Amino acid sequence: MSSLAVLHASQVVTLSGPKRPRIGAEMSELAIISDGGMLIHNGKIEKIGPSAEIEKNVGDAEVVDVGGRVVMPGFVDAHTHLVFAGNRLDDFERRSRGETYEQIAKAGGGIWSTVQKTRAASELDLLTQAKKHANWFLSCGTTTVEAKSGYGLTVDGELKLLRVMRRLKEEVRLEIVPTFLGAHAVPRELSPDEYLDVVITEMLPRVTAEKLAEFCDVFCERGYFNIDQSRRILSAAKKVGLSLRGHVDQLTNSGGAKLMAETGATTADHLEQTDEQGIAALKKANVQPVLLPGSVYALGSSRYPCAREMIEAGLAIVLATDFNPGSSPTPSMPMILSLACTQMKMSPTEAITASTLNAAYSLNRGDKIGSFERDKLANFVIFDCEDYRELAYWFGIPQTHSVYVRGDCVWNTSCGK
Ligand SMILES: [Zn+2]
Repeated sequence: MSSLAVLHASQVVTLSGPKRPRIGAEMSELAIISDGGMLIHNGKIEKIGPSAEIEKNVGDAEVVDVGGRVVMPGFVDAHTHLVFAGNRLDDFERRSRGETYEQIAKAGGGIWSTVQKTRAASELDLLTQAKKHANWFLSCGTTTVEAKSGYGLTVDGELKLLRVMRRLKEEVRLEIVPTFLGAHAVPRELSPDEYLDVVITEMLPRVTAEKLAEFCDVFCERGYFNIDQSRRILSAAKKVGLSLRGHVDQLTNSGGAKLMAETGATTADHLEQTDEQGIAALKKANVQPVLLPGSVYALGSSRYPCAREMIEAGLAIVLATDFNPGSSPTPSMPMILSLACTQMKMSPTEAITASTLNAAYSLNRGDKIGSFERDKLANFVIFDCEDYRELAYWFGIPQTHSVYVRGDCVWNTSCGK
């Protein structure tokens, strides 16, 4: 039975408070303890308080003196496409030269190129690359990620991706929440309606029979799946017990936010084009918005989602990376905090709440992770700074000192493991 005492943090950012996602002014309350510490037993938090108080209870626990650094809950990244083969370097270069999405797709790029590479890759190849991605996330201070399938687009291809996630879960310390995103795009060999039937009648039953996913997602967008098709997929997924997320209102305002409200989804993701009525619908149905400023930035757009309006409307905002090879090749939550503060006018406190506790609730794990409270998992990060606001302020430099999952050090600057 192992015990760990964490002492002398300049700030322990606890986020302790009401046991629910935070909204409005609550997003600015981080419940920080100066010169703080924590006592951890068997991977769970036993006590949080001033260092002087924790020191009295150290007993035979191993002591980690963090030397005036910041200690925070590990980031929870609630929207990633973690498993794929290859990269999209050629697309990146073409886009940097000013080519349009259509030109890039015509030249053999776009999502289809990742689908082809991912279909051709073996499970082992995908696992090897996914392990590298998982280590990137840990090195940025993220301890839990949601991960979507969606680059197979055949029954076997989608199951392969979800099985890779299951193996990855066993082999790395990053915690992974799997989402089935068979409806990421329409494969070239089928019409949208034919593919929809495959997703609903062949993929969904297999995914649920093998318990490969907790959530179902859909890419609701012009040229992908329209509102009616998205509704069919989400309703079918709900019937078989999956919780719902959705890529909506990213490039056009098609009423996607309203659809997520109507279907009782857990989250509505992207929302760059969502209007007032969409925001009101999300509020009424208690849907959490997941905002992805990394993809706006990487696509060279300036149309960020209206975070301030959403906070004012009382929505429990989540921030995530949207890590993927095409539109958001970053695993870095500190980079997302920087974008949230500079481009979306969120405060550093709001951004931290959105990327830890609110994100945990959006993955149905608000009772286990996302804040420091007794009996929650000891998933935490020591950052090499004295003030939590530095995470959003300095950008382009890593500030992670070490990362702990369930009380074990799983990554640090000296071992780099
Ligand atoms: Zn995405």
